[in-house]
Amino acid sequence: MSEESFPWDIGVHDAHCHPTDTMPSIASIPDMKAATLTVMATRGQDQSLVQQAAQSHPERILPCFGWHPWFSHQIRDDTNEPEHGKNDHDATQQKINHYASVLTPSSVDDPTFVDALPTPIPLSTLIADTRARLQLFPRALVGEVGLDRSFRLPSAWTLQELNTRDTQITPGSREGRRLSPYCVKLDHQRVVLKAQLRLAGEMARAVSLHSVKTHGVVLDVLKELWAGHERVVLSKRAREKLQDAEGVVFDDSEEEDQKDNNGKQHTTTTTPGGINHTSATSVHAASPSPPSLPFPPRICLHSYSGTIEPVRPFLNRSNPSDIYFSFSTVINFGGARVGKVGDVIKALPADRVLVESDLHTAGPEMDELLEQAARQICELRGWGLRQGMQQLAENWKRFVAG
Ligand SMILES: [Zn+2]
Repeated sequence: MSEESFPWDIGVHDAHCHPTDTMPSIASIPDMKAATLTVMATRGQDQSLVQQAAQSHPERILPCFGWHPWFSHQIRDDTNEPEHGKNDHDATQQKINHYASVLTPSSVDDPTFVDALPTPIPLSTLIADTRARLQLFPRALVGEVGLDRSFRLPSAWTLQELNTRDTQITPGSREGRRLSPYCVKLDHQRVVLKAQLRLAGEMARAVSLHSVKTHGVVLDVLKELWAGHERVVLSKRAREKLQDAEGVVFDDSEEEDQKDNNGKQHTTTTTPGGINHTSATSVHAASPSPPSLPFPPRICLHSYSGTIEPVRPFLNRSNPSDIYFSFSTVINFGGARVGKVGDVIKALPADRVLVESDLHTAGPEMDELLEQAARQICELRGWGLRQGMQQLAENWKRFVAG
């Protein structure tokens, strides 16, 4: 390679990865070139593994706790049950009813499939468990959560598949199994997502979010949570008036990079009294106990693979959450897709771009994929490698800690 050597010394932070899917790989983390791995939990089998990994490598792992949409059917919404989380229903019947109500097409006539699914966990239990883990790790984030319109549940394991499966892989994922016809209803996915976003807001933690063909619905969910908390955005004229009348001095630095849908420069700013603890430029961002709100302060749409249009409303200046976008070699830079994602990367504000591996194993492969994605991002943005990696490192620090 005749390329400029990669500036690992600056500190490369993987914004989204799954090394606990391959537990033996965790031991290789101290030898990795990447400085920090933001490690996601996704399902019942990996929450404690993420916790353990973070406890054994506290300098290198930032743990995230959450429930992925691919496993959202395993969560039973008990919000409106008279005795929260407790009841004396027949457990088998309750399981059958639950899966019949959250899966589409209905699983009612498929007892073999339902039988192989786990007993669903009450949503209140998931939230209590996640809250406890977040309390244990004051820097931990919420993730991986989200919505997905294209996935289907894998079929039940056959005996032969079970006997030949790779035992180094943490159970619970698809592992090459055939897909069933069943999807999880989007309404149910929304309930599970929304509860976790509220928890992230309550504990003022950032969120790593998965969205496949659901950007509009994700935005709707966020708008429901944001309602009444929108940042007040003043026009230049209104701002000048206020300045004349009350002598308020605005910080104009926030005006940089603000472009509307047509690429025109905006002249807007937030009011000094607005909710700005989430603002990237806020001097209060490092306050020791940030306020509880019904929405997360910062959200990263990970491996964002949509077009530029859905991005714009996420960057609206009235949104009280700051939205970041991260990109991976695995999802974003696979051949023909570079064109579309390239336009997105070029159009984003410089301070909202993150790099990730999204990989299921730690070690040299993860470093390699991070380097590839980072080089690609720097090239698209026209950043020199050192300048670009500095920017990506600062972005990650601001995303995770405010
Ligand atoms: Zn992921």
